[in-house]
Amino acid sequence: MSINAFPNFRYHPDPVATGNVGPSTITCRVCQQARGYVYLRDAIHAGREDYSEQICPWCIADGRAASALDIAFACSLDIDESVSETALEELSLRTPGYVSFQGQKWLAHCSDICRFLGDPSVEQVSQASAATIEAWCAANGTDEAVWLELASDYVPGADIGFYTFECLHCGLIQFHVDAT
Ligand SMILES: [Zn+2]
Ligand SMILES: [Zn+2]
Repeated sequence: MSINAFPNFRYHPDPVATGNVGPSTITCRVCQQARGYVYLRDAIHAGREDYSEQICPWCIADGRAASALDIAFACSLDIDESVSETALEELSLRTPGYVSFQGQKWLAHCSDICRFLGDPSVEQVSQASAATIEAWCAANGTDEAVWLELASDYVPGADIGFYTFECLHCGLIQFHVDAT
C-alpha cells in the first residue's frame, strides 16, 4: 500500500465519492503496485479490451496510464470552443471519467471545464438557483417548464440522471440531465 496522498483531480475532485474510483487490493497494470484504489470504469479506446478495475488513480493523474496504454478517460465531444487545448487534454488524459445513461458529457463555464461533483440530492435539484435553471434552459434550447418537469421526476438512481458540475471560476452549479 502506498502512503502517497490521493491524487488531486482538477475536474473530478472526489472520484471515490462519485463512485468512479473505489478501494481495491488490485495491482495496477501500469505501475505494478497495489496502491489501495482502482478506477472502476473502462477507459476510452478503440479496442475491445475492458480496462475497468485495472488502473490506479495515481497513474491516471500523472498521465502514465494514458500514454502507456494509448487510452483516454474522460471526454466531451461538444464542449465549449473557448476551452483551451490544455484543459481538454487534462480532462481526457488525466481525469477519471464517470458513467451516465447516454455517455459522458462534461459542462464548461468561464472558458474552462467545470468540476464534476456526481449525482445531486433531490434537494439540490429542487432548490436549483435561477442561474442554474437559466443555464440549463439555454444549453438545451428549452424553457423552465421542461426543467420543472424533469426536476420533479428526479429520484437518485432511477431512470432520469442528473450530474452536477461546478464552475471553478464563478461557482455556478450546472446540471447535465439524461435518461435511460
Ligand atoms: Zn498505477
Ligand atoms: Zn463560471
